[in-house]
Amino acid sequence: MKTRPKLIAGNWKMHPADGKGALELLRQLRARLAPFSRVKIAVCPPFTILHQAAVILKDTRVTLGAQNLHWEETGAYTGEISPSMLRAAGCSYVIIGHSERRQYFSETNENIQRKIKAAISHNLSPIVCVGETLSQREAGVMKDVVREHIREALRGMDEEALREVIIAYEPVWAIGTGKTATPSQAQEMHLFIRETLSDMFDLPLSDSILILYGGSVKPENARDLLGQPDIDGALVGGASLNAVSFAQIVRSGEEII
Ligand code: PEP
Repeated sequence: MKTRPKLIAGNWKMHPADGKGALELLRQLRARLAPFSRVKIAVCPPFTILHQAAVILKDTRVTLGAQNLHWEETGAYTGEISPSMLRAAGCSYVIIGHSERRQYFSETNENIQRKIKAAISHNLSPIVCVGETLSQREAGVMKDVVREHIREALRGMDEEALREVIIAYEPVWAIGTGKTATPSQAQEMHLFIRETLSDMFDLPLSDSILILYGGSVKPENARDLLGQPDIDGALVGGASLNAVSFAQIVRSGEEII
């Protein structure tokens, strides 16, 4: 088995409400995350704070990501942000296909695939979110749902491009609910995702893809989740809005490496 790096990424969503709070959080993260040297760290704040975040996080190991993008370069697309705009703002990552975007903004698999390709061609690593709802889990079709998400997102992708892709398994029932998949539930799905990737692409490549877990990751559960063999990091929502808890999650990752 290939040794993969660990990545802890914070998804701030549409928080905090005021710019001052965002800047303060960035300053706290800068201080609290300074001691860590092994885990890769990213924060994905709202678009409006990206430029300032790049300044505050300059010369740290904390990299920047965005929460969405449009696949076109420029044009009459009111309200959208292009991959090159994100690069210019200092981003290295972009979250694509988050369940909140699928649910509230009618994000389709087709658009998700376009976004992934656009991200990769602009040197942005896409963090591609997949995961089942509670009713799909209860109906026992969670693996079918996740397989479909992966296949539709990555279909026809060339292997060179795939190297940049990061998958985030985020069971919808665990996002923002305080319910977390148990480490063994998460590990089972991560292994399944890896098998799905190896059905589509060659084995060494699928073995090198990072698969993050997301869904109510907190300091209390991070260590057990991150200790699973196919869990390569975390996409953290709520707990990434507090510098102390985000740093504790990063520490759990460091202790496991
Ligand atoms: C997320 O939105 O990606 C997420 C995992 O949120 P939370 O950690 O709050 O469940």
